[in-house]
Amino acid sequence: MPEGDTVWNTARVLEKALTGETLTGSDFRVPRLATTDLNGWTVAESASRGKHLLLRLTRDGRPPHTLHSHLRMEGAWRAYAPGERWTGRPAHLIRVVLRTARSVAVGYHLHEISLVPTADEDSLVGHLGPDLLGADWDPAEAVRRISADQSTSIAEALLDQRNLAGVGNLYKAETLFLRGLWPWTPVSGVADLTGTVELAQKLVASNRGRWTQTTTGSLRKGETSYVYGRRAQPCRRCGTAIRKADQGERITYWCPRCQPEP
Ligand SMILES: [Zn+2]
Repeated sequence: MPEGDTVWNTARVLEKALTGETLTGSDFRVPRLATTDLNGWTVAESASRGKHLLLRLTRDGRPPHTLHSHLRMEGAWRAYAPGERWTGRPAHLIRVVLRTARSVAVGYHLHEISLVPTADEDSLVGHLGPDLLGADWDPAEAVRRISADQSTSIAEALLDQRNLAGVGNLYKAETLFLRGLWPWTPVSGVADLTGTVELAQKLVASNRGRWTQTTTGSLRKGETSYVYGRRAQPCRRCGTAIRKADQGERITYWCPRCQPEP
């Protein structure tokens, strides 16, 4: 599940493969950018903002540009050595290929691919709330934004990237379990919003640097979450069967005993 930590890790993969290198070729398999050629551009920086990836490019005599992509549910970037077989995903899912003398970066099933002047990055990510993994993470600002709509459920408020950027469905469900919050609790009913956003940040940050996401501390298969993906299985704390239901456009998981309806 690509959430803030996965996107952050992906930015590091691209950083290692591309930063400081000059592109020797590019291949965009999306209609809007089909004629774009980034040959000669140098990759200055690979950054993430919430769930958005930003590859910043420079070239003498041109304004810096940013190649933006979003992983959504299925997307991934992989880095290969020149000549190495691309084993990431089926070839028909390839959307972007970036080549340098020493590496090839292949983007699979990416969304929202666009190339904009870096000065205009805000048009892509300016709406986002504080980034959980950003240097400017600001829990007070996240709480301020969440508090603006007291009637929204806390689950939906945590997923809204305009409030805070980087929480997806997994960390949402796990944060609410650990705080004992029923997912449909309105924002107005959450006594400690600061503690809630700080816990979400801690969970996402703790998974930086590895691809297995855990909120329990265990990396063993089947032991990495308290409620997410565990419908009908016993709660790790009280043994009650974990429940699953639609909530808005997403699915949520909760323990009816540890997260009682108020
Ligand atoms: Zn329980």
